[in-house]
Amino acid sequence: MVLSPPKALDIVRRSLTPNRPYHAQWLLTRRCNYRCRGCSVWRGAEDDRELSTGEVKRGLDILRRLGVVEIVFSGGNPLLRGDVGEILDYASRYFVTTVYDNGSMAAERIEDLRSVDFVAISLDTLDEEMGDYVKGVPGAWRRAVEAVEALQGEGIPVGISPTISRFNLNGIVGFTRHFTDRGIPVWYCLYWYDPPTENGLFAIGERNDEFEIVDGKAAAKVCDALMEMKRDREGVYITTKTLEALKQLFLHERRTWTCRALQGFLMVDHLGRVAGCHCCEPVASVFELLDVWDSPRFERLRMEYNRCDRCAYLCYIFYSLHAGPRGNVEILRDRWRSARSILTRARNAHSAEAV
Ligand code: SF4
Ligand code: SF4
Repeated sequence: MVLSPPKALDIVRRSLTPNRPYHAQWLLTRRCNYRCRGCSVWRGAEDDRELSTGEVKRGLDILRRLGVVEIVFSGGNPLLRGDVGEILDYASRYFVTTVYDNGSMAAERIEDLRSVDFVAISLDTLDEEMGDYVKGVPGAWRRAVEAVEALQGEGIPVGISPTISRFNLNGIVGFTRHFTDRGIPVWYCLYWYDPPTENGLFAIGERNDEFEIVDGKAAAKVCDALMEMKRDREGVYITTKTLEALKQLFLHERRTWTCRALQGFLMVDHLGRVAGCHCCEPVASVFELLDVWDSPRFERLRMEYNRCDRCAYLCYIFYSLHAGPRGNVEILRDRWRSARSILTRARNAHSAEAV
């Protein structure tokens, strides 16, 4: 990845502007070729409605003007879209851009992935049989491992994204060591399921007792071990602040964060609808966001979400803990593989401007 100085400078400027939604996740499609046991995307009636390429680009322009810094494309599997390369190229000009793949498509879509800052391959375990079981598709584990090797071989920034659950809790430290030893960062999700809701934006987490973590002490020990690993190795992409918060949650069911949905982060679905998180109901279209972002209605919604405790999805905890310009700096310092590159190029661009 080469970050141009204008992009780097623009990203730093937006990161330091207060009261903006720095993180956006765009669920580009509900189509998926896997059948993961803890996921509801593939259950129920098929929904292949999607925005056109032009509409997605127009939405990205609006997110940029709103101040979004980092965009994560997921779904469904976003790589099932034939135009994903064009979307990623466009997004990568302006945002720190990540795309998720369940491991099935990336190796075939290498050319579409060259511009992104990070490709996250979802892989949960070193155990092939367990990996296929969790994904619900034979051969899934092997394809994911091969995709990681292919991307690494092509010099595309790739990371592994395991969902921590009862299945892999005891193996997650060894799993992290395995991949970080090979120069591959690990970026975690935590198994959670959607709270009961009538009109949620995008149903994802399916309740499944097989996945639910019940041993809080064991989970807290994993947090301690990851904090320890962060001290002496690169590529453990979870902040200490997040791990501390998880420990409190696991040990005492105490929430040490205030949810910042529709403040520090927002979600966009396959139809361009926007919500604070995927569990909340849509509150606007991406195309009208500039008009409604500072409205009294959105202020009321933010206060409501600040009090909400209905979920503990790890990405929302992370974005809530690291909301605001200070949080962005913490993330730049701690997590993003490209942080050094962004800051160096921004500094160079500043120096060039000063001259
Ligand atoms: S978790 Fe991801 S890969 Fe698995 S079925 Fe759901 S959307 Fe597809
Ligand atoms: S806690 Fe926040 S992210 Fe979770 S359901 Fe409530 S508003 Fe959404």
